[in-house]
Amino acid sequence: MPRKLQEYHTGDISVTFEPALCIHSARCLSGLPEVFDVSARPWVRPEAADADTVAEVVRRCPSGALKYERRDGGPAEVPDAPAAVSPQPDGPLWVRGDIAIQDAAGAEIRHVMRAALCRCGGSANAPFCDNTHRRNGFRAP
Ligand code: SF4
Repeated sequence: MPRKLQEYHTGDISVTFEPALCIHSARCLSGLPEVFDVSARPWVRPEAADADTVAEVVRRCPSGALKYERRDGGPAEVPDAPAAVSPQPDGPLWVRGDIAIQDAAGAEIRHVMRAALCRCGGSANAPFCDNTHRRNGFRAP
């Protein structure tokens, strides 16, 4: 799958997919298989469901690889409040909320509402998870 940002539009909603952030949780595939289907091309077909349903399933994406923008005046995504951090067994930290991610010098590198952050220390896409924990034997409750 190409690594550049992918965009899929209807008149009602735009869905973007950032491959480098995807941790293959498959919540999109199981949540709305008529829209998200990796065996089809394009693999995202937002026209296959109404915009509210597409938006609701996009918000389930824990990594923030999927995002949306309404083009029909529908509600924009709002960050979870309070923000929450959910450690995944032997895996990353899922964070949701109004999250500013900073580099070591304190400069903001991203402002996100959903992200999966590396907990094993091995990600080549730090601070984001790239599923290295599945290969390097990382264990954490
Ligand atoms: S829900 Fe998000 S992280 Fe999970 S497979 Fe779909 S795009 Fe990737």
